[in-house]
Formats: sequence, structure tokens, C-alpha cells
Amino acid sequence: MKKLLKRFILLATAVNIAFLCGCSSVPYTERSRLLLTSEQTENELGRQAWEKMLAEAQISTDKKHNAALLRVGKNIAAVSGKPEYRWEFRVFVSRQANAFCLPGGKVGATSSLFDFTANDAELATVVGHEISHALARHGGERMSHGLLQTIGSEAVSYATEEPMFVTAFGLVSNVAAILPYSRVHEYEADYIGLILMAKAGYYPRAAVSFWEKFGKNDNDQRLFELLSTHPMSKKRLDEMKTLIPKAREYYDQASPKRGFGEKL
Ligand SMILES: [Zn+2]
Repeated sequence: MKKLLKRFILLATAVNIAFLCGCSSVPYTERSRLLLTSEQTENELGRQAWEKMLAEAQISTDKKHNAALLRVGKNIAAVSGKPEYRWEFRVFVSRQANAFCLPGGKVGATSSLFDFTANDAELATVVGHEISHALARHGGERMSHGLLQTIGSEAVSYATEEPMFVTAFGLVSNVAAILPYSRVHEYEADYIGLILMAKAGYYPRAAVSFWEKFGKNDNDQRLFELLSTHPMSKKRLDEMKTLIPKAREYYDQASPKRGFGEKL
């Protein structure tokens, strides 16, 4: 009976928190979402994961790659509406082409990604998409769902003094790991990413040609990670094409206009 009561209190707490901080919507798409985590917590988890990566992963010393990521990343960060993020940009050595943005603005790209980006606009396509996952707080949303599931299951340890805290802490890996996002999150990151690259002055049409080019290389081992987390279907490309006119409106207002930017 005591156990049941405790479980009831836990669920009531979760529902309360959901009411308190769950009534928010994603920028640009206005989709309402459930968020049980605070942005501050997500950013702190992002920072911890970033520190761990800097300590453990091999950082690239390629001046051209690092300069390109910094240049493109800063331009996108400048139009993201997140001056409070502590933005950082690093290239990591890897045979896999990939990129990510941790909550709070820690942006990483791998050295192999540059084998596939012909210019700044193409790099902005990937970086803009990844930054959009962070802006839309998809990591926090994923943690929130995980948290609710855990609270609702028998898995919660009732002996723990602060189960919410412990559960959240156990989910650090969800923010840090580069796991496949849901279909909804992918579509949203494509949409917001196109708008961000356009606002930063990069030609949004470059995103379509870039992903089209990528999709054709699907048996290239270097693309395994990126294509497994971002499957390139005809449907996704078609949806992206329908978003171009909207992105174009932002591009028309952008200043300065960079077009395809520098050649890489
Ligand atoms: Zn994505």
C-alpha cells in the first residue's frame, strides 16, 4: 500500500511538472511538446558531455576544416536567437562523416564530413540541421519521454531519496549520444535548419542538392553514421523541396547574402 502511494505521488509530481514546464512550443514550427527538464539542466548535461568528448576524442588540427566550421557555425549561431548559449565549434578526427550540436551550443563535425561538402552552404546545411535539434530542444524532449516512461514503470527504485534526479542523471547518455531522432524531429530540424541557413545568408536550395548528392552515396562506408541517423528518403527530399519557398523568404531578407559561400 505504501509502495502504491509512493508511486502515486511520483506520478502526480511528474504530471504537475508537466503542467508547470511542459506547456511550450517549438520555435518556427509551433508544435507543442512535453518538457520535464529545464533548459538549464539540458545545457549543463550538454556541457558535461562536451568536456568528456574534448578529453577523449581526437581533435582535428586541420586549419582549413576548423576555420570553415567556425565561420559557418558562427554565422548560423548569430541568427539562432540564442546569444546566451556558450557556443563552441570543433572538428573531430573520424572516418565517419557526421556532425552534432549538444544542448547549449556545442557543435562538432568530423573531418570526413568535409569530403562531402563542396562549399560553405553545404556545410551550413548539416550544421544548421544539427543546431536546429538543439534549438528545438529535441534532446530534452527525448529525456522527458524517457523520464515519464521510467516513472510509469516498475523500474523506479523506491528506495532512492531523489528518484527524479537519479533518473535524469542516468539519462545523460540520451543527450550525449548521437541517436537517431524521430521522424517528427528530423522534419523539424530540416525545416528550422533551412530557415537558419537562409537567415545566415546561405542559399537554401543548396540543402536539397547536398542531400540529393548524399543519398546517392549510400554505400559509402564513411556515410554510414550520418545516413543511419538521417535516412535520406525521396519523401524527406520532397518535403524539403516544399519548404524552399518559405526559406527563400528569409534568404531574400538576409544581409549579407553569402550564396554558396567559400569553396571547401
Ligand atoms: Zn537530424
